[in-house]
Parts: sequence; structure tokens; C-alpha cells
Amino acid sequence: MLGQVIELIEKHERFAITSHIRPDGDSLGSSLALCWILRGLKKDAEVIMCDHVPHAYRKLPGAEDVRVVKDIDRSYDAVFVIECSDVDRPGLPSLKDQFVVNIDHHSTTALFGDLNWIDSTAAAVGEMIYNLAKAIGSKISSEIASCVYAALLTDTGSFHFSNTTERTFKIASELVRHGAQPAKLSQAIFYNYPYAKVRLVGAVLSTLQRDETGRIAWIKMSKDAMSQTGATEDDSDGIINYPLTVGDVEAVAFFRELPNDTYRISLRSKNRVNVARVAEQFGGGGHANAAGFTIKANFETLSSEVIEKLKDAVAQAPAANGREIKPR
Ligand code: 5GP
Ligand code: MN
Repeated sequence: MLGQVIELIEKHERFAITSHIRPDGDSLGSSLALCWILRGLKKDAEVIMCDHVPHAYRKLPGAEDVRVVKDIDRSYDAVFVIECSDVDRPGLPSLKDQFVVNIDHHSTTALFGDLNWIDSTAAAVGEMIYNLAKAIGSKISSEIASCVYAALLTDTGSFHFSNTTERTFKIASELVRHGAQPAKLSQAIFYNYPYAKVRLVGAVLSTLQRDETGRIAWIKMSKDAMSQTGATEDDSDGIINYPLTVGDVEAVAFFRELPNDTYRISLRSKNRVNVARVAEQFGGGGHANAAGFTIKANFETLSSEVIEKLKDAVAQAPAANGREIKPR
């Protein structure tokens, strides 16, 4: 499938790259890296997203050129869609009328593209983009190296999760050789928070609760917590990992209150607890250890239903050997 992607790039000129709503480190790092690769090959390429670049990723090379759009508004020979479970995830309605190249590392992704290049062994789509760069003969510039490194760094949870393999470190080592600066990138992504974000962490963690077994924990972000701390919804990213740092906790739910009685729920788990199955029951999706959904509901009813489903998921999980964690 990589061969067909290379052939497509070689035969055409005008490309767009997009990814899912509320882009993260892998979706942005991989999209920007692919854009640098295409421009290096003298192709006309741009990254378009329906949401703005979150604060944490604004220092990635090329981030300032990401064009925020409501829909596809130019003509392209092909649109690359990075790490999306379905054709609606980018939030660009006319995408379905384009020639779409679906590039993903999630085994559950729908084969919605005209070309589908899926590699569920890749720790991040960044690994696939790096392989593409080498296969097509791109010079690995420091921009490409930095963007791919950011994708690997974030999707492996700073090389903590079980998707981190020998290959991940081998690629990371090559990226450093090509100019990626680990400390500088970690600083830009993880040590550059707005003050309001850290205050929000405090407010949200003060809502922490757990069930009687101590294996399930949940937190809630109210609209008031955001307005009182001056934080934005973006600032809530990553807070869900704190409850997961409790040794006994195996599954976490994070309820974010949105306007109109709507909640966005993130789920995370350790070991072999499958939270994607839980998210699917509420109309969402994701991976076994990181999933989510958005729903209009009464909070008390919703939270007790989600906690019950998480209890089922923990009870059904095969016993773990050690503490495997594999979000994203
Ligand atoms: P997060 O909690 O970081 O928003 O999302 C975690 C994972 O769940 C990501 O892989 C994301 O794609 C997936 N996810 C979150 N919300 C939804 C949703 O509404 N639908 C689907 N299909 N996946 C989701
Ligand atoms: Mn990813």
C-alpha cells in the first residue's frame, strides 16, 4: 500500500493534508511532516484542519501555516487524512467528494479512503510518515525530523506506553541525528503550559472520586471550573492521565461539561481493560486503552451508566502481567 501512496505522490501535484477535530501531537506532527516532505519534492501542499492548532503544538515547524477551514475550499489531486477512524472525523463535509488517502495506525479504522494505508504495528502515524519519507527518497530535514519526533513523543506518552518498541527508539535516534532536539521539543510541548491550565488541573483533580474497589476513578470539568480558572477546553488535555497514575486505578472517565447539557467523555485504561467497547456503547470509539464519546445527557444518569460499564470492562479484562499502559 505504501507503494501506491508513493506512486500517487509522484504522479500528482496538488495535495492537502488533514486530520481529526481537536488535533493532537501525532495528528499534527504527522500532518506537518508529510507537508514538509511533499514541499521538499516540489509539490503544492498544505495542512488544513477544522480546529486551530492547540497551544502545545504551536512551536512545531510549519504550525503557523496550518489553515483552519470549515470545509474543503480549493481543488486538490488528493487529500491525505491522518489518523481518523472515519471520514467524518476531520469535520470537513466535502471530504467525501475528494480523492482520499487514509493513513492510520488504528486497527479499527474504517477503510473510507480511495487508498487506505493502515499499519497497526506503528506506535504513531509519525512512524509511517518517516518510512514514507525514506521510501520516497526525501532528504530528512530538521523540520521533518522535529515533527515526526513530536508525533512519536506524544503518541507513546513520552515513551511510557506499551506501543513503544525497539523500532520507535531506532526511529527516534535517527530523528535526533537529523536535527530533532528532544529537550527543546519536550519543553515546547510539556513545559510551556498557560498558567490557567495548571489552575484547571487543580480544580478538576479536586473532583476526583473512585469506586468501592479502587479500580475505577472519575473526574469532572464543569463550565464553572473553566470560567473560574480562565482556562479553555484545550487546557483540559492530559488531565485524565493523573487519576491513572494511582497504582490501583485501571480505568478512568473524564466528564467535560459543554454547552446545552452535552458532555464530552474521555476514557483511559491500563492493562487489558478495553474502554473502546465502553465508548462504542455510547456512540463513540477509540482504542482499547484510550477512547471517547460526546453525548447529550443528564450528568447523574450518564455518570452512573458510564461507571457501571467501566466496572463490566474491568471485570471482563484478562489478568494482566505487570502494568501495561497503552493509551492512544
Ligand atoms: P481523547 O480522549 O483524547 O479525546 O480521545 C481518545 C481516543 O478516542 C482518540 O483515539 C480518539 O480518536 C477517540 N475518540 C474520542 N472521541 C471520539 C468520538 O466521539 N468518536 C470516535 N470514533 N472516537 C473518539
Ligand atoms: Mn496516533
